[in-house]
Amino acid sequence: MSPATLVVAAGRPERTQGAPVNPPVILSSTFVSQGVPGAGEPLYGRMDAATWHPFEETLGTLEGSVHPALVYASGMAAIAAALSLVPPGGRLVLPRHAYQVTLGYAQDLRDRLGIDVTLVDIADTDAVVTAVREPRAASMLWIETPTNPMLEVADLPVLVEAAHAAGALVGVDNTFATPLVQRPFEHGADVVVHSVTKYLAGHTDVVLGAALADDDDLHARLHAYRTLHGSIAGPFEVWLALRGLRTLALRVERAQANAAELARRLAEHPAVAEVRHPSLPADPGHERAARLMDGFGAILGLRPHGGPDAADALVAALRLWVPATSLGGVESTLERRRRFATESLTVPEDLLRMSVGIEDVEDLWRDLAQALDSL
Ligand SMILES: *Cc1c(COP(=O)(O)O)cnc(C)c1O
Repeated sequence: MSPATLVVAAGRPERTQGAPVNPPVILSSTFVSQGVPGAGEPLYGRMDAATWHPFEETLGTLEGSVHPALVYASGMAAIAAALSLVPPGGRLVLPRHAYQVTLGYAQDLRDRLGIDVTLVDIADTDAVVTAVREPRAASMLWIETPTNPMLEVADLPVLVEAAHAAGALVGVDNTFATPLVQRPFEHGADVVVHSVTKYLAGHTDVVLGAALADDDDLHARLHAYRTLHGSIAGPFEVWLALRGLRTLALRVERAQANAAELARRLAEHPAVAEVRHPSLPADPGHERAARLMDGFGAILGLRPHGGPDAADALVAALRLWVPATSLGGVESTLERRRRFATESLTVPEDLLRMSVGIEDVEDLWRDLAQALDSL
């Protein structure tokens, strides 16, 4: 079945007479149990919760994994679980423009566990292929594609092959693309993570993460990490995320169409110095995205003429677009990323990251055009 059908049909209760169409939320920290518990028997809420399963099964199916996904308290909790697969003293190669908290966590691993951290331009395939081999083999190659916030597109199959040849695991943060647009397991990735907070939940009302692995041993290690660290999700969060996931196909389709149209119009506006979106034929990521992805995503990069002050003035002049961090909600949001001292210094100071929502594209454009004209 197509992903657009799976998001609606997967993770439903059995169809018996009188059964609910939606799975229930079970609010119980413990379950009746005596004697030696059998495998998979409900026991205690930190180990497992039936309310997680419909979401975990649906996301596992969407990503084409042989196992259900594992939900975590947040995207960062899922990333911490995935990066725990790098042994102390190992080598981690990751994009210099990865999500800034992922980069911060990698520095923490370097300081605490002696993990050697190498930052790369993930769009520079030759540089990444060299980095996974030299000066010594990497333990893990971490990939974001498109990257947050620079929208660089990686040559996923080539990088996975090179990493595996060097004996490295490959982890992919698939938050920006969603499994509707890109399924990293099809290209051989070992671990996939999501900030479910973003597109999968989609309504800016829940913080949640997920990690997936095809390999039995890796899946068991991610599961054990969650139980040992207690980085679990609450039942309401997972229920909300499943409710949001039901409309993922419609939301992504609309948001992507809006983003491509706005990118095209922005590129022609005299107040715009640069617009980044892989849908634009002149974008450096266009050819790869067209070859490897089922769409171009709904995040734009915008640099107005006039530097960071003009970027801030543009944000302040908007009435419909919401000035806020985060992304992937139904509402359009934007922010100047370098307002954070922790953002990578190679991200231009005037870059606005725009998360395009599902509003009417003409309303979004009218608001942008009046703000650009006011600069
Ligand atoms: C937001 C985000 C994260 C972190 O997820 P949280 O749910 O906020 O912990 C990780 N990766 C990417 C690409 C993100 O956008």
